[in-house]
Amino acid sequence: MTTLIEGGTVVNASGPFVANVLIDGERIAGLASPDSDTSRTWRESAERVLDATGTYVIPGAVDAHTHMEMPFGGTFSVDTFETGTRAAAFGGTTSIIDFAIQTKGQSLRSGLDQWFAKAENKCAIDYGFHMIVSDVNEQSLKEMDVLVDEGVASFKLFMAYPGVFYSTDGEILQAMQQASSNGATIMMHAENGIAIDVLVAQALARGEGDPRFHGATRPSLLEGEATHRAIQLARVAGAPLYIVHLSAREALDEVVGARDRGQNVFAETCPQYLFLSEADMAREGFEGAKFVCSPPLRDASHSIDLWRGLRTDDLSVVATDHCPFCFKEQKELGVGNFAKIPNGMPGVEHRLDLIFQGVDAGEISLARWVEVTSTTPARMFGLFPRKGLIAPGADADIVLYDPDATHTFSAATHHMNVDYSAYEGMKVKGKAKTVLSRGRVVIENDEYVGTPGSGVFLKRGLNGLLR
Ligand SMILES: [Zn+2]
Repeated sequence: MTTLIEGGTVVNASGPFVANVLIDGERIAGLASPDSDTSRTWRESAERVLDATGTYVIPGAVDAHTHMEMPFGGTFSVDTFETGTRAAAFGGTTSIIDFAIQTKGQSLRSGLDQWFAKAENKCAIDYGFHMIVSDVNEQSLKEMDVLVDEGVASFKLFMAYPGVFYSTDGEILQAMQQASSNGATIMMHAENGIAIDVLVAQALARGEGDPRFHGATRPSLLEGEATHRAIQLARVAGAPLYIVHLSAREALDEVVGARDRGQNVFAETCPQYLFLSEADMAREGFEGAKFVCSPPLRDASHSIDLWRGLRTDDLSVVATDHCPFCFKEQKELGVGNFAKIPNGMPGVEHRLDLIFQGVDAGEISLARWVEVTSTTPARMFGLFPRKGLIAPGADADIVLYDPDATHTFSAATHHMNVDYSAYEGMKVKGKAKTVLSRGRVVIENDEYVGTPGSGVFLKRGLNGLLR
């Protein structure tokens, strides 16, 4: 099957240019100037023609941080791999990298196999896995090497959540040393969980149980402190480090310093830290629980620094940390005790649109929008140039993005399997009009026309951004 995408403006991370795109099967076969003989030949022979007039033709977005069906505090995030990847596709995301979890006392292998089983034959788009290491020991260190060979070349550790995912500095150092020898990238949840637990206990003892105290007990200084420590440990071990969901200027300052030294340190932020703030956590009644995630939403001034970080490439990636829990019955587990509110927010569907508002507002360029949502995550996590690029040979993961379409986010119309929207009523400009996953149209005219299970597991290579 050949498909011609005609009349659009192709936007790669290198910038926009006018070209027609020919797809042959699952891959991009070529690009050609619209008035060339090549384009005329393609028009006559293509089995299907998609009219891209007025749209940006961009590489499908890559969301490097999602949690489908993730166990947390006795419940599970509500999007399955089927519903979550479908919602992602609606928003123009054509690859996700989710987190498989090692349970304490078990092997990495058994954790990874559980996540393979959850995702198999379910996904609308392609998917890969990072591995959460929650039990650093001799066996799991050895297993890291095996997983790298199997295409799981990034390992997440936690400085937060003592008793659950938390690793000591010594354990973190050991995992980093292993990564230094096998080429993997260490991903870090950088918040000082030991200190945070003290602040949480003190707040609860004072009777401060409302959602807003979730933010008050996780100050940005403790994110900055943990980020500093993670960077120094990675420096000692000589391992690449990727800070997940960076929310605060104190943490950004540490990343800037490390990058200026030439260290292989990278960071991602998430739309919720750019568009929402601690004021949302302090909404009337229990509403604030909808916005409880970790690190917490900060005061709005942090977002100014985060946009700057995106411009200067000190923040290299925007990912969602999609981890949806319903307001009813799930978030409500924490009525009167914020520490029992499941941590996480929905967002996998809205990332491309939200960051496009930054283009419209002049915060970042059109090319940078593609870079932070698609090209850099693909390079960072060993998927480039198969993903993140419109060029011959790349997978035909392509979005026809209409910059003039407007729509309004709402739980009534979104496709995520969750009963609220963190952006309820927000009107945005720009929308994914047609979405292709490896040459197959999966979204067209606001309809899902794909098949669950057509997304395949992505065996990833090593970090392509190391210097
Ligand atoms: Zn996460």
